Amino acid sequence: MLFGILRENDHRVSVTPELAKKFISEGHEVCFEIGAGTTAYFNDSSYTAVGATEKSREDILKTANVLITLDPISKEEVELLSEGTFLFSSFEPFQDASICELYATKGISAFSFDMIPRTTIAQSMDVLSSMASIAGYKAVLKATELLPRYMPMLSTAAGTVPPSKVLILGAGVAGLQAIATAKRLGAQVEAFDTRAASKEEVQSLGAKFVEVAGANDDTNAGGYAVEQSEEYKKKQAELINQKIEKADVVITTAQLRGRPAPTLISEEAVKSMKPGSVIVDIASSTGGNCALTEDAKVVKKHDVFIVGNSNLAADISEQASVLFSKNVQNYFKLMLTKEGFNFDFSDEIILQSCIVYKGEVIYGNEAKQQA
Ligand code: NAD
Repeated sequence: MLFGILRENDHRVSVTPELAKKFISEGHEVCFEIGAGTTAYFNDSSYTAVGATEKSREDILKTANVLITLDPISKEEVELLSEGTFLFSSFEPFQDASICELYATKGISAFSFDMIPRTTIAQSMDVLSSMASIAGYKAVLKATELLPRYMPMLSTAAGTVPPSKVLILGAGVAGLQAIATAKRLGAQVEAFDTRAASKEEVQSLGAKFVEVAGANDDTNAGGYAVEQSEEYKKKQAELINQKIEKADVVITTAQLRGRPAPTLISEEAVKSMKPGSVIVDIASSTGGNCALTEDAKVVKKHDVFIVGNSNLAADISEQASVLFSKNVQNYFKLMLTKEGFNFDFSDEIILQSCIVYKGEVIYGNEAKQQA
C-alpha cells in the first residue's frame, strides 16, 4: 500500500521518518509532500534517507491508499481521493456527524483517532492524551512568560518573594500535566474538576483539590465529564470565583465532549484578579472556559492577559510529532499487515474508532456497532 504524508496546518507532522521507515520495512511505500516535516525538524532528506519519495500534494491525494493526518483534509481535497482510500485523522464526528456522509459517498474508509476508547489497553494509542499532556505543560510555560511575577518562593537579600498561586480548572490529562509543571516551577497549586476520580490524582501531584459537594455521577461516562445541575454550577461558581480572585495564574482545560466548553470564569471574575495576572484557556476552540477568551489570540482585558489556545501541542512540534507517530504505530499494530489492512471488528478499539467503512457510515449506527 502507498502511505501519504501531507503538510499539516500547524508545525507538526503525522508520520516521522522513523515510522515511514517502519512502513517501508514492512513492504509498503511512503510518499511525502515537500516540507511535510520541516517545521517539526524532520527535513525532506530524512524521509528520502529511509526510502520515502517526494510527491506533489495533489498527486498524494489522488494516489495514496492510506492518508494519516493530524487534522482532517478539506472537503475540496476529499473530492480528489480515489475510492477505497483509507483516511486516519481526528474527525470529531461528535461535533459534526455529517462529515461521515461525505466520506461514505466517496466510497472511502475513515478511522478517527479521537474515537479510540479511553481504556487502559488503548493508552499507548491515545493521541488525545499525548497532545493534551503537551498542551498542559506548555500552558504553564506561556503563563510564566507573561506573568510579571515569579512562580517560586524566593528568599533574596532584598526580601522574600511569595510563590505565585496557580489555579487549574479541569484536571484531565492537560490539567494534571499543568499541575505537575506549575509544581516543578515552585508555584502554590490548587485544582478543580467535576469528576470525582480526579481528586486523588490532583492530590497525588501535591496540589490542593478545590471541592464542591453534590456533583452528578460520572461513573458511566467513559471517563468524560457529565453535565451538572444548576444548583451545583452555582455553588461551583461561588467557590471558584473566590479562588480566581486570589490566583496569579489560572489554566483552564474544562471540556464537554461534543458540546461547548462550560464558562467557568465570568467577566466579573476577570475584573477581580490582580493586574498582570494570566489566564490560559486551552478550551478556547470549543468556546472557552473564560467569557472573555478569544480563540487563537492573546488579549489583555481588565489588565489580565487571556491566552486562548487549543493548539499548544503544535508549539512543541518535534516532540508532539514523535508522540503522535508512536500512537499511530501502536494503533496500526491492531490492523496493519504486510499484505494490507486486516480489520477485526470484534476489537472494541477498531470498532469504536471506525466511523466509515468502505462507503458505509458506522458512526452512530448502533446495530452495526453491536454486530
Ligand atoms: P477532557 O479534555 O474531555 O476535559 C478536561 C477536564 O475538564 C476533564 O477532567 C473534565 O472532567 C473536566 N471538566 C469538564 N467540565 C468541567 C467543569 N464544569 N468544571 C471543571 N472541570 C470540568 O478530558 P481528558 O483530559 O481528555 O480526560 C477525559 C477522561 O479520560 C479522564 O477521566 C481521563 O482520566 C480519562 N483518560 C483515560 C485514558 C486511558 O485510560 N486510556 C487516557 C486519557 C484520559
